[in-house]
Amino acid sequence: WKKIQMTNQSKDELYEMGQTFNEMIDNLEVNFEKQEIFVSDASHELKTPISIVKSYAQLLKRRGAENPAVFHEAIEAIDSEADRMQNLVEQMLQLAKSQVETNTETVELSKLVLDAYKTFSGAYKEREMYCDISEEAAALVVKGNQPQLQQIIYILIDNALKYTENAIEMKLSSEDGRASFKVKDHGEGISSADLEHIFDRFYRVDKARTRESGGTGLGLPIAKQIAQGHGGKLTVESVIGYGTTFTLQLPLEKEANQERH
Ligand code: ADP
Repeated sequence: WKKIQMTNQSKDELYEMGQTFNEMIDNLEVNFEKQEIFVSDASHELKTPISIVKSYAQLLKRRGAENPAVFHEAIEAIDSEADRMQNLVEQMLQLAKSQVETNTETVELSKLVLDAYKTFSGAYKEREMYCDISEEAAALVVKGNQPQLQQIIYILIDNALKYTENAIEMKLSSEDGRASFKVKDHGEGISSADLEHIFDRFYRVDKARTRESGGTGLGLPIAKQIAQGHGGKLTVESVIGYGTTFTLQLPLEKEANQERH
């Protein structure tokens, strides 16, 4: 056996290597733990629709043939629970991708916001909805994945419509050299205890109510993951009794009007 000669320098290097190794192990442990929690939460979320499908299938077997009302009720329920499972699985798969695929597409945010505004105001004609895009904001351009950025915009507007009844406002502007997109509602707001968890996977303030509206508790975590994948951030402010504002901030590529000059 040959002894390794340790100079002061090599001791420092070994120490550093040891430190890096320990940090890697710590990270791995945290990641395994997170993954375990995700799998256990996901199984729990899937259990409910599976047991509903199962019990309706049994009802169909027992009484479906002779009773058309039972037949239709069961088929409707199975169909909607299957949709729910499909939605859950798609969202889980999206979250499980560790890296958000950002390509180098140039995206005009005002176009995405305006399209979303048109789509939602067409679908929710009875709701009061305002969209404010300043002249300056109309020229904002970011680099990123267009469908994913559209998805964040949709998630925020959809939530405001789902969880509140009053008017909602969206605003695109430029703030501190970044693009800022805000969705503000005048609903009942979210308590500070719930706000701490609002971006946690599967977290819902009111499980029963959100289940009825098809909520999975994965929309905001997906939106946050996409925002971070684009070098941006998604934040929330809420006051009970007054409403909630979600803000998406994204780094700018350049301004389209600068390009034109
Ligand atoms: P989902 O809407 O599918 O349940 P999200 O992750 O998008 O999941 O939202 C998590 C929870 O945050 C919702 O279930 C709801 O309780 C709450 N929430 C989201 N947006 C709002 C809002 N604008 N006003 C009040 N509560 C909200």
